[in-house]
Amino acid sequence: MLSYRHGFHAGNFADVLKHSLLSLAIAALKQKVKPFVYIDTHAGAGKYALKSEFAQKTGEYREGIARLWDEKQPLPLLRDYLAAVRAENTGNRLARYPGSPQLVRRLVRSQDRLSLSELHTSDFQVLQQLYAGDNQVTVAKEDGLRMLGKKLPPIQKRALILIDPSYELKSEYQAVVQALAAAYHRFAGGVYALWYPVIDRDATERFMRLLVATGIPKQLRIEHCVAADTAGRGMTGAGMVFFNPPWQLDRQAEELLPWLDGVLAAGRGQWRVDWQVPETVASAADRN
Ligand code: SAM
Repeated sequence: MLSYRHGFHAGNFADVLKHSLLSLAIAALKQKVKPFVYIDTHAGAGKYALKSEFAQKTGEYREGIARLWDEKQPLPLLRDYLAAVRAENTGNRLARYPGSPQLVRRLVRSQDRLSLSELHTSDFQVLQQLYAGDNQVTVAKEDGLRMLGKKLPPIQKRALILIDPSYELKSEYQAVVQALAAAYHRFAGGVYALWYPVIDRDATERFMRLLVATGIPKQLRIEHCVAADTAGRGMTGAGMVFFNPPWQLDRQAEELLPWLDGVLAAGRGQWRVDWQVPETVASAADRN
């Protein structure tokens, strides 16, 4: 039984990090004309009304996207991300927020495809309706990690794969590691983006060690904590691990994170951009 609903958290500081990095990865893939597929294993509802009961109950977006919305001079790197958010809204009022599917849908070209899976019955129905009749998007009500096995390698031979579980069950961490290792084994050429929360620092670092132990090369870890670590009392930070990140995503993240920290945490948070499994100089030239 799934109880997590992303509507409570849409547009929070963790979404801002995830979606801004996602927009940079999409921009990098678009540098080549060849089509790619975007695979979203845990898609959510696609987009969210910030005036909904869900979003109003937590108000998390006020500490996230709402702070960027009013920025007079946003970082140029955020251009695509913020344009996609603005495109969901009319006028100057922030009322809607694109989830990962809708953000990507707004950024891809006619030759690209989206493959989305979502297990929650209500969110799946909303997602299915959103893309009904859209021949660039397929939506499935199935386990996203299992779906990966079926979708890889993709016919396009180019893919960005977002793995963004809700981690409702502790066993999901191990399941993600296994699915990722199997997916990489099937298709080593993809760009994989894995989201993780920082709730309990020891648990986060254990998860990172499991990822390193897969032996998958080129693992770039990008993390932003808006508050100091606690022992499991809520999410104080979040991160993404990219496997085969697009060229220069590390440099872009080094520019993005301090800026985000200034806007979202008044410069008092902590951030990191590390190759937890390094890339080699030789491989940087021929990626993607
Ligand atoms: N990726 C979305 C975004 O950035 O807008 C947010 C996704 S939310 C963190 C995680 C979603 O995964 C929830 O909507 C949940 O219902 C769904 N979910 C949970 N377990 C799943 C599974 N095994 N397969 C597919 N979806 C799942």
